[in-house]
Amino acid sequence: MSVAQFMAACLYDPEGGYYARAPRIGADGDFITAPEISQMFGELIGLWCAHEWDALARPSQTRWIELGPGRGALTADALRAVRASPQFAEALDVHFIELSDELRRAQASALTQIRPAWHDRLEDAPEGPAFIIANEFFDCLPVRQFVRAENGWRERLVGLRDGELSFGLSASPLPDVSLLPIAAQEAEIGAIAELAPALPAWIAAIAARLKAHPGRALIIDYGGDGMGDTLQALSRHRKVSPLENPGECDLTAHVDFTALANAALDAGLGVSGPIAQGAWLAALGVEARAAALARANPARAERIAREHRRLTHPDEMGALFQVLCLSSPTLPTPAGF
Ligand code: SAH
Repeated sequence: MSVAQFMAACLYDPEGGYYARAPRIGADGDFITAPEISQMFGELIGLWCAHEWDALARPSQTRWIELGPGRGALTADALRAVRASPQFAEALDVHFIELSDELRRAQASALTQIRPAWHDRLEDAPEGPAFIIANEFFDCLPVRQFVRAENGWRERLVGLRDGELSFGLSASPLPDVSLLPIAAQEAEIGAIAELAPALPAWIAAIAARLKAHPGRALIIDYGGDGMGDTLQALSRHRKVSPLENPGECDLTAHVDFTALANAALDAGLGVSGPIAQGAWLAALGVEARAAALARANPARAERIAREHRRLTHPDEMGALFQVLCLSSPTLPTPAGF
């Protein structure tokens, strides 16, 4: 099978899939994400949306749509922060796009004041002006992998060899190389390219919404250009072989932001970024927020400083993670870009 089929089975198989069972997100789980590291992340995203609501002409009903909300921390922190902007808070209704029942339960208990609506697909969320937030969502989309060989691009496959799962290559080369990432055109023998087949449909769904009603989509993820073997399996915060214990660990691949931005431009959306997460959070005032939190909680000051560093420093998440904003066609450049 293709790497994408393998990834889809490991993540989404209704019985054995990682997300169909109980994904372990957080400090005591398999992997940790920015909103699980610090409340500052969700708070700043909430305040950014409150600020951008002006550009949308302050619609009295605005959808807050999060793709893959995990344990619900980002939205919980954002909603708490936007209480400072009561008219915006009043206007919001919350929609979660989530497949895992287990995580839907965790999301419900993270949000004490409101009850979100859950949907399987973005197309199922009600229409209207919207902020769409996706943090570490697109890295879950299964990728196909291709290896540059003498006579073209061969697809990397997963199969059984002597009873063990192992990687191999397709017998014949890929017939249509126009599918490959732009950066693959100059690749040398041995190079690996990745392609997320589901990406265009997600961008089309976002574009359909943002063209019908004003809104912005904020996408934050491991930045890439579709080149290299970025398939990664994490178990208890350690990298393990993706072929080990299928369905037991989180599988991700870096997101081809070039492909994502080009698909959005082709669909007629405004595109801002990608820029590094560290620079974007700095522009939003993360330093002032960290200082205020530390003043209010002197006993936690060191920990807050560590969290701030983790989110923003180039040696940590600050450069590896990229931020991209897709906007309805006529909107101005959003804050921080
Ligand atoms: N955004 C969260 C969680 C990231 S993990 C955070 O930053 O902490 C990925 C999330 O996306 C999980 O909630 C997972 O169940 C969900 N997910 C993955 N693929 C999905 C799909 N195709 N449709 C809907 N949700 C999906």
